[in-house]
This record gives sequence, C-alpha cells and structure tokens, in this order.
Amino acid sequence: MNTAWIWTLLLAILLVSTVLFFLVQMRSYFHTEVLPWVQRSMDIKARKGQQCRILRTEADGPNTVEIVSPTCEDGLPHTVRPHTIRMTEAVWSSDRRDTILVHERVHLQQRQMPDEWKRFYAEHWGYTFPETVPMEVMDRKDIRSNPDTSENPFPVWQTRYWFVEVYDDPVTPSIRHSHVEIWDNQTQSWSRSLPQDWQRFFCGESCPHQYEHPHELSAEYSTDSSWNCSAAITLREFQKRYRS
Ligand SMILES: [Zn+2]
Repeated sequence: MNTAWIWTLLLAILLVSTVLFFLVQMRSYFHTEVLPWVQRSMDIKARKGQQCRILRTEADGPNTVEIVSPTCEDGLPHTVRPHTIRMTEAVWSSDRRDTILVHERVHLQQRQMPDEWKRFYAEHWGYTFPETVPMEVMDRKDIRSNPDTSENPFPVWQTRYWFVEVYDDPVTPSIRHSHVEIWDNQTQSWSRSLPQDWQRFFCGESCPHQYEHPHELSAEYSTDSSWNCSAAITLREFQKRYRS
C-alpha cells in the first residue's frame, strides 16, 4: 500500500468518525426529556444545563432504579413513575443508598396508591388538597417544583396553612437552595415559622427537615424509627396495613 492510500484511508476514518460523533450528539439533543414537573420559568432556569439520561438500570424488588446523568435534578434522587426511582451513580454507590431507597420507596407507594395516602392525610394528619388554591399561593413565581409531590403540589393543613417550597434566590435559582413558606389563610400573610399546633403534632425532639409536603414528611419519618411524634406514630400504623 502506498502512502497516498494510507492518507486516504486515514482521512476516510476521520470523516466517518466525525459524522458519527455529530449524529450521536444530535440524537441526545433531540431526545432531551420533557420533565413533567418542570413548568414554571424559574424551574426551567434552575435546571439549565442539566441532563437526565438513563445510563443503566438496577432492580430494586418490583421496582427499577434508573442510574441517570450526574446533573439530573442536580444529583438529587427522586421518582418518576409508580415503579421507577432515579439516582446518580454517586448516590447508588454511596453508603447512603439504603436509606435513600427507603425514602424513595415511600414516594413510589404514594404514586401507586394516591387515594389511600390522601385519605390517611385527611383523617390522621389534617392535610387536604383542595381544587381551589389561594391566588397568593398559586401565583408565586418562585415555587420550586418537586417530582415526588408534583401530582398534588398544594397541600393545606387544617384548611388554613398552605405550605410551599420556594427558591432562595429567584435571580439564580438552584434546586439545592430553597426554603418553605407558609400562607396563612386566616391572617392573609406569609410566614416562615411553623404554627405551634403543627409543631406539637409533627415535631419530636427536632422538627422534620422536609416539611413542605406530607409526602416528604412521611418519607422522612420512614427512614428513622426513632421519630416518636403523633404524626410518625399514626404513619407507622397506616404503613403496617400495607406491608407485605
Ligand atoms: Zn423525597
């Protein structure tokens, strides 16, 4: 083979690899997933540059764990369907995996039996999900959406307190930086302080970290058997009924 042939061959290989590379890029570009819980412009901004590609899957009993791109939901584990958990490789291979799986399995069950959970919340925790949401709550532009609560994102406690999770910084919103604000329907005002009655029922020696939604409260109680507040005790009774 002479030199001209070798150069032609190398050039052809280079050309084919370049075309293949661009085709793969185009494919992932056109397959950008629409995340159903991302609707408001601030939510889109908070997820700019993130990608949720499924790299591989693992089985977790009847459920599937999708190992996704490191940037997916800023690396935070979550659920997407009644039997599907998503987490990054870093979380999957960390020593937090088991605790996180317990938390996420609660979210799966909430997706699988939404009516049972709603009934439990209404009868034992005082939470409901009315169809009419106050304008002050509905119209907030800085609400941080959460895949695990997106089916019923607006809980109200004792028909008075509306809990919402909002971005700390509306200019450069980040999924990992948010806080809870509570709309008091009676005083018609926002507050960051938890109502006294709420604390008596939902807090133990300390209060739960994720108190923006009863779905998160129940997932948090489920990962630690030392919770002894009334809310955690009634939850345990409810969960016993569905333990296989
Ligand atoms: Zn959660």
